[in-house]
Amino acid sequence: MSRLLRIDTNKRTFAFSDMGAYAGMGGRALTSRLILDEVPALSHPLGASNKLVAAAGILTGTAAANSGRISLGAKSPLTGGIKESNSGGLFSQKMAKLGIQAMVFEDKPEDSAAPVVVVVKADGVSIVEAPELAGLGTYAASEILLAKYGSRAAVMLIGPAGETCRLAASVQFTDPKGRPARAAGRGGLGAVMGSKKIKAVVVDDTGATGVPVADKEAFKAANKRWVEILGSHPVTSQGLPGFGTSILVNIINEAGALPTKNFRFGRFDQAADISGEKMVELMQARGGKPKEGCHPGCVIQCSQTFVDDKGGYLSSGLEYETVWAFGANCLINDIDDIARMDHACDDLGLDTIDMGNAVAVAMDGGIIPWGDSKAALTLLRRVGDPSDSLGRIMGNGAKFAGQAFGVSRVAEVKGQALPAYDPRSVKGVGVTYATTPMGADHTAGYAVCQNILKCGGDVNPMTKVGQVELSKNLQIATAAIDAVGFCLFVAFAVLDTADAVQVMCDQIAAVTGKAFAPGDFLALGVNTLKDEIAFNTKAGFTKEHDQLPEFFAEPLAPHNTTWDFTPEELQGAKVS
Ligand code: SF4
Repeated sequence: MSRLLRIDTNKRTFAFSDMGAYAGMGGRALTSRLILDEVPALSHPLGASNKLVAAAGILTGTAAANSGRISLGAKSPLTGGIKESNSGGLFSQKMAKLGIQAMVFEDKPEDSAAPVVVVVKADGVSIVEAPELAGLGTYAASEILLAKYGSRAAVMLIGPAGETCRLAASVQFTDPKGRPARAAGRGGLGAVMGSKKIKAVVVDDTGATGVPVADKEAFKAANKRWVEILGSHPVTSQGLPGFGTSILVNIINEAGALPTKNFRFGRFDQAADISGEKMVELMQARGGKPKEGCHPGCVIQCSQTFVDDKGGYLSSGLEYETVWAFGANCLINDIDDIARMDHACDDLGLDTIDMGNAVAVAMDGGIIPWGDSKAALTLLRRVGDPSDSLGRIMGNGAKFAGQAFGVSRVAEVKGQALPAYDPRSVKGVGVTYATTPMGADHTAGYAVCQNILKCGGDVNPMTKVGQVELSKNLQIATAAIDAVGFCLFVAFAVLDTADAVQVMCDQIAAVTGKAFAPGDFLALGVNTLKDEIAFNTKAGFTKEHDQLPEFFAEPLAPHNTTWDFTPEELQGAKVS
């Protein structure tokens, strides 16, 4: 039976409870409802009233393919609004198998308190002081924790950036090889965890009873069809497993929408050097691994192990967004140094999208030269020194860096930096950036599908026609997928397969033993968004916050597109 595990981080006590009003909920639907119900919207994100919620999806812990995501939720220190950020890794499946739908971290201790590790096993929960882990990077800390608690454990943890409450701090999760390379990166949730003095949470599912499935035969049949769907779409069966997410570098560059030099141009003339094709060539020549999953049951396997020219580990899960953020956006074409920057962010516990934008802002402000990958890496690493003022500025992300450096050209919405698609030439995703309750976030409504990749339809990326409706529909579907615990990359196949939504619903019905129809799937997404909008409204957000920075009115080469939506037009993308 699913339970909530509440941890009082001040008293260092814990309590299990049944799901109560949250029965049947999971993933993003659960984190957002709980934050709406239990966190005062005007509270300080780093104060005692904020809560950090880690929730497994509705299907997480079952054999449903690609259903192992973990959703983190809180009031965001970066945006001031509600936040859900999700990640792969092993943590969520193990938590669900222990019968824990969500962990809720409440209250906060004195600022001088030692960091603690929360250890969750089948036979109990312990909260252990861990001063020896203070200030350690996530790689060193997770190695110590896995040596202590065993290789069956999974770890959720923060690095120095989270411990010092930097606004761009991520929460990292270990992958099947024990590397803390999977990130709930966005929104500064690592700072919320740090404010509560939680360095790490260790979950070991040894002896767990697993997730009960009400109708095993029906579930088996639905999951068989689900695997067929994912295994037959060209993006999920060839593109992502063949080249990783960086297959997008050449595609988006060709489309004229690869943000270059802090969103000045839509093409990077050295894009081929940082492309997915180039990365695979290097991995094959050097002994890396071009294809692996971030959790058991992933049948897409977009992840990779990237190594240097001596075969030494540089990074894993080196994704398109990261490659773009430190690459084209900073005029850097050295893929090895980009991998080192990814590693530094994972180790320090930082969001690569906000940090790539922050580095570009630092280049715009004359702090370091454009295209200087060594200087960028050095600048990033300074975040790990709490006494370093420049490091403190950088760790707070792009918007804060812009304020500190006197740079007005900062690509952000609601305080969160823009991802890797220029909204002037992929207007559908621009609508999502502007209107999602999350702040600029491509994953909240990935209109790149229809605008560029032509999955699930064909909507011209450079005109306004159809983009508002497209973004709204995708935001609803995405919120539902996040609630179920599916990796968002299933969406490529779902959008092009007639029975895919029904198959997802069949899986949910088989697991829960309750009827679940496509209308319920739709309602799951709509209600989640309504909760998030309600929180943000109470936190003071208005339609004036649903807009991109004014420099996007400048024409973007090569297509000379501009951002031309009014806030009134954009409101149609929000559920009501
Ligand atoms: S497709 Fe990629 S991100 Fe999604 S579950 Fe698999 S490895 Fe993880």
